[in-house]
Amino acid sequence: MTIERILSDKGRTVVTIEPGHTLHEAARLLCEKRIGAVVVSDAFRPVIGILSERDIVRAIAARGSAALEEPVSQSMTTTVVTGTAHTGITEVLELMTEGKFRHVPIMDGQRLAGIVSIGDIVKDRLAEAEAETAAMRDYIATA
Ligand code: AMP
Repeated sequence: MTIERILSDKGRTVVTIEPGHTLHEAARLLCEKRIGAVVVSDAFRPVIGILSERDIVRAIAARGSAALEEPVSQSMTTTVVTGTAHTGITEVLELMTEGKFRHVPIMDGQRLAGIVSIGDIVKDRLAEAEAETAAMRDYIATA
């Protein structure tokens, strides 16, 4: 199964922020949208980096609350691992496990086409397991 199944269920909206915005603005955005990471982009580059709640916590732990006034660009990760709608769900899970991150932006060529979190994958896996159990029950009941 591919990431397309998850995107067609959850949608393709990606919350982004420009690199010059402050960590405080990023924190407010994460809170308001109830998400754990934002893709950093501008008018010309769809993925300049990714900033997750962990990056904000790390910056505050290192430099105190003054870090909240620093630009997002100072704390974001710039080597971003991405996938496409055709990438396998298991493959994305492996990328997350190996890289120790919980978000993978999905690209369609140079365009952002969605984002998948570990929560989305867990939800998909649970739905799949439930469907299998129901199918098995039906099969046993009608056999
Ligand atoms: P997360 O577990 O997604 O909250 O992120 C943990 C760390 O990995 C943070 O430093 C993020 O900036 C970074 N990170 C998150 N997603 C990715 C990704 N797709 N590629 C590379 N780094 C990432």
